[in-house]
Amino acid sequence: MELYVFGLASYRDKIGVSSIYRLQDEVLTPTNFDLCLSRLLKTCSHEIGHMFGLYHCIEADCVMNGTISLVETDNSTIRLCSACQRKLNSSIKYDNKKRLIELEKYFEKVKLNDATQLMKKDLEKIQ
Ligand SMILES: [Zn+2]
Ligand SMILES: [Zn+2]
Repeated sequence: MELYVFGLASYRDKIGVSSIYRLQDEVLTPTNFDLCLSRLLKTCSHEIGHMFGLYHCIEADCVMNGTISLVETDNSTIRLCSACQRKLNSSIKYDNKKRLIELEKYFEKVKLNDATQLMKKDLEKIQ
């Protein structure tokens, strides 16, 4: 198994980087586009979480639980657990319901069905 760093972020400088180079399984094609997009969104969400002060989370069902291989990334989630969501919301004020509705719409538009379902579930929990 090969291990890679898919993204990095600095807490102090509020800077994050990521690359699709290793996320696309060598060549980006119409067949692997959705998988590559899903990987990129997971990686970027994780790094952006760091940029906003979130640390790694031990909750398996949380995007802040780091991954070190594509298999782990593919099996990881794109959602924030409720503890990380509350931490993020204490540093940046936003309407969590609105955030989830907008994420659901976005995931629906780009046809990432698993992510759409996760947002629907999280929305049901906060109703
Ligand atoms: Zn990390
Ligand atoms: Zn978490």
